[in-house]
Amino acid sequence: MPRSHYDVVIAGAGHNGLVAAAYLAGAGRRVLVLERLGHVGGLAVSARAFPGVDARLSRYSYLVSLLPSKIVKELGLRLDLRRRRFSSYTPAGGTGLLVDNEDAARTAASFEAVTGGRRDLDAWERFYAMTAHVARRVAPTLLDPLPGRADLRGIVGDEEAWRDLFERPIGQVVDERFADDTVRGVVLTDALIGTFADPAADLLANRCFLYHVIGDGTGDWNVPVGGMGAVTAELADVARRRGAEIRTGAEVLAVDPGTGEVTFRDVSPGGQDDGAEQVVTGGKVLANLPPAVLARLLGETPETPEGAQLKINMVLSRLPRLRDPAVTPAEAFSGTFHINESRDQLAAAYAQAAAGRVPDLPPAEVYCHSLTDPSILGPELRAAGAHTMTLFGLHMPARLFADPAAKREALARTLASIDSVLAEPIGDCLLRAPSGEPCLEAKTPLDLERDAGLPGGHIFHRDLSWPYGEEDGPGGHGGPWGVETAHERVLLCGAGARRGGGVSGIPGHNAAMAVLGHA
Ligand SMILES: Cc1cc2nc3c(=O)[nH]c(=O)nc-3n(C[C@H](O)[C@H](O)[C@H](O)COP(=O)(O)OP(=O)(O)OC[C@H]3O[C@@H](n4cnc5c(N)ncnc54)[C@H](O)[C@@H]3O)c2cc1C
Repeated sequence: MPRSHYDVVIAGAGHNGLVAAAYLAGAGRRVLVLERLGHVGGLAVSARAFPGVDARLSRYSYLVSLLPSKIVKELGLRLDLRRRRFSSYTPAGGTGLLVDNEDAARTAASFEAVTGGRRDLDAWERFYAMTAHVARRVAPTLLDPLPGRADLRGIVGDEEAWRDLFERPIGQVVDERFADDTVRGVVLTDALIGTFADPAADLLANRCFLYHVIGDGTGDWNVPVGGMGAVTAELADVARRRGAEIRTGAEVLAVDPGTGEVTFRDVSPGGQDDGAEQVVTGGKVLANLPPAVLARLLGETPETPEGAQLKINMVLSRLPRLRDPAVTPAEAFSGTFHINESRDQLAAAYAQAAAGRVPDLPPAEVYCHSLTDPSILGPELRAAGAHTMTLFGLHMPARLFADPAAKREALARTLASIDSVLAEPIGDCLLRAPSGEPCLEAKTPLDLERDAGLPGGHIFHRDLSWPYGEEDGPGGHGGPWGVETAHERVLLCGAGARRGGGVSGIPGHNAAMAVLGHA
């Protein structure tokens, strides 16, 4: 067995592993990244999902909010993250709620049409002014050593905001602040992405909400031009140029926390090493892996988290027609298009899923990436008016899918849920691949476990954590950077770290800072 030594071995070349590699190689460390798959990027990738169809879909993650400008600047990343003019549209009967970032009067008219007055618009403006304040205060701390809880409360510096976002269930806060069922639901969806929780009772929903509104100090969700694959291609390029060695098709099999030995094997098709096990040692070993995978590699007992979404990728031959004459399909689908996500509909779906049933009317949101970034479509598809559509369905926990028939049921009900808010069936708008098959792929949490190696299909590797140490005082539980494990040599550098989750690069940055001793 050949052996070699690196200052740092990173298991996994998701975007966080690449961020860590770029920082560490830039600081002169000898870095090796080992990635199981034949490509880098993990959950931040673009793919031609349908044979013969020239559309590069952001297969898993698709919007960027949490990536700090500081990381982009420090690593010199060339990224085009495009702001969306319309943040959302929500059909409601024959009308709908349009949030237009550039036309306040139009947004106001839309609130008037849906809610019958200005009350909820005023509440909306107050509420999002509050989240914007919290975003400006909290976002910069995410790249510093973990503050204690009291420290962060002081940094937020607004007791009402602290209570409403950090201490009281967000569902109760939303019920108090807003009167309309549709408006309440639009606010609450940010608390439920990838998170199976009752927002009226469970502060896990608050944590999810917080990360959805503080990204880079603005909370904006931007479109990565070229798709998510462009983000990770750039990160890999920068990491390599700074001297990191990245090996794809290299599956890590075991990590010895005492010696820093990392055992892996070449799993690339036609790989030169014939699947033989190899060992390298790292002064530090960084795990871009979900904590449950790391536990297995350390020979410990993993705790499996549970994901709760149905992800559907589609290519459409044209945008579907809407019932609402006040908005065009291009406007409605270029922001987040909410489907049966009112507060009461979310609560009904949660209750059904918690009772072990696929929801009757699955809440979901769709978004057409190609409306903001046509470059992901080949010229012929673009000229023909085709579009990509990605759907994120809520309240579909992994536990529902033990029986394979449940996936068919969940898909059929989700498509019916879309149809219930459109003027024509979505099935009529699906592009057909040269094989004759409609361009649609659906992934349950169990599919994500199998295809993307995500335990329980949890999109954030595990439930999101508060952005402070559990105990007061510097550091608190989890170590100074929130990336430390029970083993001194082994650090997390992926979404499962404290302040992880999403396409942020934050755990990658923080793990690198911990290695470099910047505590
Ligand atoms: C369907 C879906 C939609 C999402 N939408 C968004 C979104 O729009 N915006 C957003 O911000 N976030 C979104 N997320 C969440 C976000 O994508 C993830 O939280 C984030 O990308 C995780 O990045 P990471 O680098 O920490 O880990 P990952 O991207 O999971 O990377 C881990 C890497 O480790 C590799 N690996 C695993 N086991 C081994 C092994 N034994 N040996 C070697 N390598 C191994 C994997 O192949 C992978 O490349 C979404 C996630 C999903 C699944």
